[in-house]
Amino acid sequence: MAKLVLATDDSGEPEIFASLQGEGPSLGMPVAFMRLSRCNLACTWCDTAYTWHFDKSREHRDGIIFDRKSNQLSLNVEDVAARILELGQNRLVITGGEPLLQTGALADLLKLLPDMEIEIETNGTVKANSHVDIRVDQYNVSPKLAHSGNPAELALIEERLDFYASDPRAYVKFVIAQPDDVNEVLALNTQYRFKKGHVFLMPEGTDSETLRKRAEWLAPLCLEHGFRMSDRLHIHLYGDERGT
Ligand code: SF4
Repeated sequence: MAKLVLATDDSGEPEIFASLQGEGPSLGMPVAFMRLSRCNLACTWCDTAYTWHFDKSREHRDGIIFDRKSNQLSLNVEDVAARILELGQNRLVITGGEPLLQTGALADLLKLLPDMEIEIETNGTVKANSHVDIRVDQYNVSPKLAHSGNPAELALIEERLDFYASDPRAYVKFVIAQPDDVNEVLALNTQYRFKKGHVFLMPEGTDSETLRKRAEWLAPLCLEHGFRMSDRLHIHLYGDERGT
């Protein structure tokens, strides 16, 4: 029986919950969320470091090393599907960590959720297998810029970004910490020619005050360059908390 490795919430339960999508093209939409554990990258500002920062081999700005046992839970796909269906939502957002690291078990899960719309949040470096890909209604791809601390050869995989640039289901969302980061986005946009209306810039921040301050200089940059802007609605509503 296939198993998925999920992140846990504060009570140690798997991080499966209903909420409003906080970012990107579906912002504000009521959805079910499932957060999978593990990531192949190591963004210094990652707000879900509890999905991967289990030892000192990779760095994170907070310096917190999470206990793997209490932050990961392995569950049968049947159990996961039942928990998702209990939430009564039509759309499932699969997030992480990097959820496509578990594309095999995800394919088994999606067979048990034939009527749900599927949205996948990915860092854009890992390929979905064909059984998963055929079920995806929307990819939210977040390629990581230099300020994430990841080497470009790990974070920006040409073949993957070419795939997403040509797929009308894919939206690309860049996390922006300072105005100069937008120059990197412009260079990537020239290289990959992402579809118009499919590129979002989103301020980096895990509190409302930081997001608002950065939005002040990011909004004019979006206007100037024709990019869409994303907020982080869940941070304003609930703060930087698990299960939201
Ligand atoms: S890719 Fe996403 S989950 Fe992985 S370290 Fe970066 S922000 Fe965190």
